[in-house]
Amino acid sequence: MEGREREIMILGAGIGGLRVALRLEKRLKRGMGRIILVDQNDYHQYLYRIHEVCGPDYDERDIIVPLSKVIGGKRIEFRKMRVERIDAHRRVVVASEGEMPFDILVIALGSSPQYYGIEGLEENSLVLNSYEAAREIRRRIEELFREAGRGETPPGIVVAGGGFTGTELAGELAEWIPMLIERYGLRRPDSLLTLVEAMPHILPGWNPELSEMAEEILASKSVEIVTGDPVKRALREGLELKSGRMIYSDLTIWTGGVTCNRAVGGDFEMVRGRIRIDDYCHAWGYEDIYVVGDASCALDGETGKPLPP
Ligand SMILES: Cc1cc2nc3c(=O)[nH]c(=O)nc-3n(C[C@H](O)[C@H](O)[C@H](O)COP(=O)(O)OP(=O)(O)OC[C@H]3O[C@@H](n4cnc5c(N)ncnc54)[C@H](O)[C@@H]3O)c2cc1C
Repeated sequence: MEGREREIMILGAGIGGLRVALRLEKRLKRGMGRIILVDQNDYHQYLYRIHEVCGPDYDERDIIVPLSKVIGGKRIEFRKMRVERIDAHRRVVVASEGEMPFDILVIALGSSPQYYGIEGLEENSLVLNSYEAAREIRRRIEELFREAGRGETPPGIVVAGGGFTGTELAGELAEWIPMLIERYGLRRPDSLLTLVEAMPHILPGWNPELSEMAEEILASKSVEIVTGDPVKRALREGLELKSGRMIYSDLTIWTGGVTCNRAVGGDFEMVRGRIRIDDYCHAWGYEDIYVVGDASCALDGETGKPLPP
């Protein structure tokens, strides 16, 4: 290693990776290492706001910001590349442009959708996991409404997964769909869309009062809420639930779960689909590989149970 600076490679310029890069840049003394930030996009996305793209109105500047604005002038080298795999044993990142060796690696690639092996789900649904994905949902919905004939019933939309992402998305759609109905002269139905949740209430695991309040608000906006009935199978024409009930729809949006980004590869110890980390955010068993954010999973020291990211 003598004679050359250590390469500190950070994969993912989401909230986790960008924070690491910016903090490190402040603290790292000259000559101690080069910070290399890798992302498939040259912008940072405020992921927690992407559901707004599926609402009545949104301003792109509230959802994404060019990385050049954030890291411009700083000692952070940006590489726009798609990570395909991490070969932890050979200490290289396999990316769209080829292999990149690293001395220290920070994995902050976020998540990929978790389909739980549900038949037909991946092929027959869209997911809300990036700005691009949110724009695709918006585009599909506009297309479906445009193509429906005047005076007809609007297309059916189902959001499957009533956690925060699904609940927030349903709220945005409930605001936007009435506008589309008016714009395209469609007939207003009793329910504008359906939100399906496997557990007895939406926002499972949160304060029950919060769940109830959210259900009441959505119901008042003509969202039909179906709870306690997990998705069994997804078809082109909708979802079949465990009870045998069919929810017919023209568009299914799956918000039922996430797992570690698939690009991390198979060299790590996984817990519930995420990379196990120790108290210092090392990937379990690796001294020079760290994991932050949605890709990581720490276990509670007392109970041994996985903690939220
Ligand atoms: C609609 C919605 C609402 C949410 N609301 C909240 C909330 O209210 N509160 C809360 O705490 N959390 C919320 N979250 C979750 C929160 O956004 C995530 O926990 C957080 O963004 C995770 O940060 P991260 O850095 O691990 O990953 P991300 O923010 O997902 O960043 C990952 C980065 O890696 C890049 N990347 C991914 N794959 C590749 C690849 N193969 N090659 C190169 N680059 C790649 C991506 O482009 C991205 O920039 C919400 C999420 C969503 C979708």
